[in-house]
Parts: sequence; C-alpha cells; structure tokens
Amino acid sequence: MEIAHAKRHPTVEEVYACVRRRVPSISLDTVYRTLAAFEKHGLIQKLQILEEPVRYDGTPARHHHLVCKRCKSISDFHWPLFERMRLPGAAAAWGRAEARQVQILGLCRKCLRGAAIGALDGHRLRDNFC
Ligand SMILES: [Zn+2]
Ligand SMILES: [Zn+2]
Repeated sequence: MEIAHAKRHPTVEEVYACVRRRVPSISLDTVYRTLAAFEKHGLIQKLQILEEPVRYDGTPARHHHLVCKRCKSISDFHWPLFERMRLPGAAAAWGRAEARQVQILGLCRKCLRGAAIGALDGHRLRDNFC
C-alpha cells in the first residue's frame, strides 16, 4: 500500500484519495479498517498530533517528529541517545514505560522564511503524497 512508501504522514482521507485512483470502488471504511489492521501488526504507526486528524506513519521503526505549527508538516528524525537515556525519577517510578516518542513543535525553516502559504502548501503536499 502506498503509505509504506510515503515520506510524509498522511491523514486517512489522503490515503483514501490516493488509493481510490487505482481502486475506484474502495470505500473509506475499508481504508480505515486496513490502516487499523496495519497498525495492529506494527507495519505503520498512528499519530495524534496537535488537534489534527489522525495521521498514519509509513515508518514503523522508532523515530521522532518535528511538527510545524504553521504548515502542519511532520518530519522524521532519529535520536538514539534519547532512547538510551535513563528516565527521570518520576517517569521511572510511574510504571512500565513501553515507548518514548518526542514531538518537537515549532516552525519549520520554510515557514520561518515566510515562504509557505497555508492552503497552497497543503495542496502541494497532497500532490507529492500521491
Ligand atoms: Zn512549516
Ligand atoms: Zn514519522
């Protein structure tokens, strides 16, 4: 499925729009169920970032996210040192930590330069995804 090769982090609707080009008869419900099944088997990850719709991540390996508040872009980054770091006391005492993921919120370089125009940017991203 396309999402496995996606560099970005599509919403369910974006995956649906993309798959429908090849399989016009597919229903949104099928896409939801397929993504949920993929997630259950660890093939993709589900992301809930900001107050955005859920997105799916085609990279099952552990990684972290850089989230731009303005253009809503999500980029991956790796931080092996963080994953090996000892948890601070309160976190260690809290219970069993099974995953740790960092989300860095801010403004991407493009938005800092003022190059991105909200809606246009969204359309371009969508085209790139398919
Ligand atoms: Zn941005
Ligand atoms: Zn990711």
